[in-house]
Amino acid sequence: VFNFAAGPATLPENVLLKAQSELYNWRGSGMSVMEMSHRGKEFLSIIQKAEADLRTLLNIPSEYAVLFLQGGATTQFAAIPLNVLKPEDPVDYLVTGSWGDKAFKEAQKFCKPKVIWSGKSEKYTRIPAFEGLEQSSDAKYLHICANETIHGVEFKDYPTPKNGILVADMSSNFCSKPVDVSKFGIIYAGAQKNVGPSGVTIVIIRKDLIGNAQEITPIMLDYKIHAENNSLYNTPPCYCIYMCGLVFEDLLEQGGLVEVEKKNEKKAKILYDAIDESNGFFRCPVEKSVRSLMNVPFTLEKPELEADFVKEAAKEKMIQLKGHRSVGGMRASIYNAMPLAGVENLVAFMKDFQARHA
Ligand code: PLP
Repeated sequence: VFNFAAGPATLPENVLLKAQSELYNWRGSGMSVMEMSHRGKEFLSIIQKAEADLRTLLNIPSEYAVLFLQGGATTQFAAIPLNVLKPEDPVDYLVTGSWGDKAFKEAQKFCKPKVIWSGKSEKYTRIPAFEGLEQSSDAKYLHICANETIHGVEFKDYPTPKNGILVADMSSNFCSKPVDVSKFGIIYAGAQKNVGPSGVTIVIIRKDLIGNAQEITPIMLDYKIHAENNSLYNTPPCYCIYMCGLVFEDLLEQGGLVEVEKKNEKKAKILYDAIDESNGFFRCPVEKSVRSLMNVPFTLEKPELEADFVKEAAKEKMIQLKGHRSVGGMRASIYNAMPLAGVENLVAFMKDFQARHA
């Protein structure tokens, strides 16, 4: 089965098989990773290796902390303003889809955010030119969602904040390509798309931004607490961190993120080409220059056929192709772990479907 779900999403088969082989007895310890104390030497070696491999993959400078947290990326929508702002502080949000909008709305409770650009009236199909952006001169940060999972809009380069730092939600394109971490103050991502199961959220934060949390910040949201305790202040999502570690090893074995990006570009090109060459039978509404390599939304010229498309694809073992309920149509999520064969099968099915229904 090829699983095109947006997240939780398909994981590399070799990673799942490795996890299966050590499920009951992790490397001779006599314990499953699920049964280990998070303070024991076995788990410490797991979390330290996961962090070290992630640092290698993304080339994370030493002045950045890596945190493995809980609560999903959604919790970070609140944790970020609580940690780095005062309630009266202004910040800018560039809203290119539903997730950026959710982040902005949550921030309203903790600071004074301003939407400096929104793609809502154009149904979130593009990213504005950075030169014309009217950034607030006193904004403490500029927040973006690097890849909008629902709308399929992805930043290919990044705006420079006029003032303050750049903060990015990278939940749905984390580790899908190289990123210059030093351009960002904070990067955060839920794991459940490209790097592991749901339950762990990774925060990469410049160390000088840690330690200024508002007084009301719950201890579980305080980056200082987590940084000082190497993500072990309380019981972390041990098994999820272990699985992320296996994925990081796998990405390194593939040659790192430069190689991973090449594969992702190839898969996305095949799919977008099939859509664009279908004479309008299939349509992707997103402006070409910012189409996501990860989430490919598309519609049918005859919307009444969409349910059949999804049903017939499932019969052919291509599942979870229904678009998000807020936008309709279809969406193929083709994260790192989606094999090329999955995309090739989908494109062959699309051509066959068109031939039968055009
Ligand atoms: N941000 C983006 C870009 C997402 O795609 C998602 C979930 O799909 C979230 C945030 C919310 O993540 P979580 O469900 O981990 O809170």
